[in-house]
Amino acid sequence: MDQSERTRKYTEALQRMIRIETVSDPDRRSPQENFEAFRGLLRELFPHAYSACAVREFDGSLLLKWPGRDREALPVLFMNHQDVVPAGADGWQHAPFSGEVADGMLWGRGTLDDKGGLWAMLQAADELAAEGFVPPRDIWFESGCDEEVHGRGAAAISRWLQENGVRFEMVFDEGGDVVRDPIAGAKGRFAMIGVGEKSVVNLKFTARSDGGHASAPGKNTPLVQLGKFMAYVDRNQIFDVELSPTLSEMLSRLAPFMGKAGKLAGKADKLRKPVEILKPKLGGTVGALLSTTIAFTQIGGGEAVNSIPREAWVVADMRCSHHQGQEASIAKIAKVAKRYGLETEILEKEVPSGLADCHGKAFRLVEEAVRATLPGVDACVPYIMTGASDSRYFDRVCSQCIRFLPFAIDGSQLDSIHGVNEYVDVETLVPAVEYYKYLMQHV
Ligand SMILES: [Zn+2]
Repeated sequence: MDQSERTRKYTEALQRMIRIETVSDPDRRSPQENFEAFRGLLRELFPHAYSACAVREFDGSLLLKWPGRDREALPVLFMNHQDVVPAGADGWQHAPFSGEVADGMLWGRGTLDDKGGLWAMLQAADELAAEGFVPPRDIWFESGCDEEVHGRGAAAISRWLQENGVRFEMVFDEGGDVVRDPIAGAKGRFAMIGVGEKSVVNLKFTARSDGGHASAPGKNTPLVQLGKFMAYVDRNQIFDVELSPTLSEMLSRLAPFMGKAGKLAGKADKLRKPVEILKPKLGGTVGALLSTTIAFTQIGGGEAVNSIPREAWVVADMRCSHHQGQEASIAKIAKVAKRYGLETEILEKEVPSGLADCHGKAFRLVEEAVRATLPGVDACVPYIMTGASDSRYFDRVCSQCIRFLPFAIDGSQLDSIHGVNEYVDVETLVPAVEYYKYLMQHV
């Protein structure tokens, strides 16, 4: 099959996956039948992969095992999820579940996050299996059906693997892409390869008072306490700032493409105060990677317009750095909150992620696959994701989880993930399959 025929066939397959709505959302979850139909479609699209593998289902999340030649070697795991975040029709140039193709772009919710990845991974396995290929060692596939809410499927599967004594040498999940001008003012196309993710903690800060009538107010009432606290956190650097080895490697690889700022970034690990010097030059996205961050996201309290609230609260989303983990970050912010008379309550603590070695075997293999299969990449760059993915659950069975998808995208496409107008360039579909094939052949 030539390139254009493959592109046409691949486009059709991915269109069919996009057209089945598999929305994960507490209030707007797609009906169960959609998820079942979607899994039925996977079987239909990838018959050779399915017959080569032992298939297990965990409440809709999938675990497949493809036996390899060397049964002694530690297996590897590939993963991509089935569900998507909701999408209303508002603001979309092409309806989000239409799978329309226009000017060589395939539109729809999930084209990038993460049905594109799921399709490419299984398409690669299907083609290899059809040729009678047997992987060098066992290859497993995992596909959660609720990654976008809590990842309970991935949690259950990783626990099952652990209980059954299965460990992996490498895990390959979704994550960064090949992005144009991604970060720190670097110009070019970079394979942004995630080696870990910041861990999420949701906190609630509460102020209380005896209440009373608004006509004779005291000082420092609950809403004022919250306001002062938020203003303080907004103005000050609360959490420890550190240029970790991963970030220093990221900057040194981007440096040749950063113009003037690159001269400094390239020798970041040799600067006496790298963070103080670099932070203002590199912008917000890099800033978020240097420390734990906190964002106030919801607020409430007060009973009536003419009474002092007996209670008022604010909720915050905190993303913890690896160098100041969850416990230390919580302790730090709780101490500040206490100074303003606030109670701190932990609403939710996500499983924290480990950090893969950006000089290790798994990372190097991904780099090799990128160079061999994806055209026009200026450099492979390790980074730490600020969002959560299912692979955080697999740290219990693997120390080297790499997060990368082989699609080339630009800044607007990056914003479209969980936003509007998500699409993938159909010319990137063939290289994406080749990327996964390369990994499967070389693990
Ligand atoms: Zn995703």
